[in-house]
Amino acid sequence: NKIIVIGAVAGGATVASQIRRLDSESEIVVYEKDRDMSFANCGLPYYLGDVVEDRNLMLSATPQKFHDKKNITVKPFHEAIALNDKNKTITVKNHQTGETFDDHYDTLILSPGCRARHLPLQSDRLFTLRNLVDTDEIESFIVNENVKSALIVGAGYVSLEILENFYARGIEPTLIHRSDHINKSMDKDLNNVIFDELDKRNIKYRLNEEIADISDRKVTFKSGNVEEYDIIITGVGIEPNSDWLKSSSLQLNEKGYIPVNEYFETNLDSVYALGDVIETFYRHTKKPTSITLAWGAHRAAAIIAENLAVKSPNEKSAFRGLLGTNIVRIFDYALGSVGISEQELKDYNYGVVEQIQKQHAGYYPNAEPITLRVYFDKSSRKILRACAVGKDGADKRIDILSTAIIGELTIDEMRDIEIAYAPPFSSPKDIVNMIGYKAQ
Ligand code: FAD
Repeated sequence: NKIIVIGAVAGGATVASQIRRLDSESEIVVYEKDRDMSFANCGLPYYLGDVVEDRNLMLSATPQKFHDKKNITVKPFHEAIALNDKNKTITVKNHQTGETFDDHYDTLILSPGCRARHLPLQSDRLFTLRNLVDTDEIESFIVNENVKSALIVGAGYVSLEILENFYARGIEPTLIHRSDHINKSMDKDLNNVIFDELDKRNIKYRLNEEIADISDRKVTFKSGNVEEYDIIITGVGIEPNSDWLKSSSLQLNEKGYIPVNEYFETNLDSVYALGDVIETFYRHTKKPTSITLAWGAHRAAAIIAENLAVKSPNEKSAFRGLLGTNIVRIFDYALGSVGISEQELKDYNYGVVEQIQKQHAGYYPNAEPITLRVYFDKSSRKILRACAVGKDGADKRIDILSTAIIGELTIDEMRDIEIAYAPPFSSPKDIVNMIGYKAQ
């Protein structure tokens, strides 16, 4: 039995290891088009900020370790360029030799992820951050060019993390965003704390702004402004790495994501997909969604591996769906949300409850307010979406809300969540309980 995995980072390396835990027999080969496997994408902004100083900590595994410890073959610089589903082979290009060859699979698992979208601009000062190669290039550019100022283009969560980390490192950042809704996963008005945090530090930002032209350090903006920057980092969205699959019979949705069922099966026999590249579904509403975050890739890897190991198909376990639970820190604040997006709420007859309350007893030192906003379906009273913003304790509340949605609690049952209370931690009527009381 031969298992081929495409992509060797979050989804790919994890699914290969999980399969090996349960299956010592099968041959497992992982093809990775780039240089590194299993690097810590999520840690890269913090490495650039010198918060994590040791580069080795960003690389948790190597092909040698995977070979020696797990008997898994990982081939970097090997790009899958075609899927030939009729004869169950993939065509692979070895970028180091230029050679192209076909490899046969019994089971194929796709985890090629997404790539950064690029602006149609040319400049040696322009970078995107998606992997460790990008990180190394940015790091050496900063050092070699003695970078003092940075333009950050696009205000998604990765850009915000880069901004915070550049600032910490002593590089003066400026942020621009094409629209007036930054950090899209958060309700628009709740992002105001981000602007406050930037203002407090005299960090410049402009909304509804785009680059028109770059000429060495000189950046001309669509607004007419002309400014000079040492480095420009763009974070203007991502797109699925699925172009190479278009010549096959594999089904892709209109945006290029691969629809999968609750077993991560695609429309093709013996072909599975996981990670950022898939279209899956929300756990609570069952509607289709693509959520490009790490948790889903890891959960899918475990489920695929377990299902490949079962003796009979009725022992298979089904995935229950995603909630898109997410969080970002920007300086002193954390902003988290869970559930359908603010834009998707329009499809529901929803109610909303909001409470602003200190994270723990007000008399206990460092009490700071959290804003917790919870959207619920008016007929079922079940929770659709929640947002939490605060200096401390927002993470805990968003995780409680995630658990509440998984447990299918109604907004009213938020009163019943028995919170661990002592003055440093919460209140006898915690903010999550108050949401339930207020909903009455
Ligand atoms: P990836 O981990 O991107 O791996 C896909 C791999 O497939 C890539 O290495 C690619 O080179 C390779 N590949 C693509 N096409 C081919 C091909 N044709 N042949 C061979 N190989 C191919 N998520 C969070 O939940 N929290 C965070 O804080 C967070 N922070 C992030 C910060 C940054 C800077 C980035 C870039 C991402 C962050 N993410 C975060 C997202 C998270 O990293 C992804 O959700 C996760 O890595 C997805 O796993 P994946 O396997 O689908 O894709």
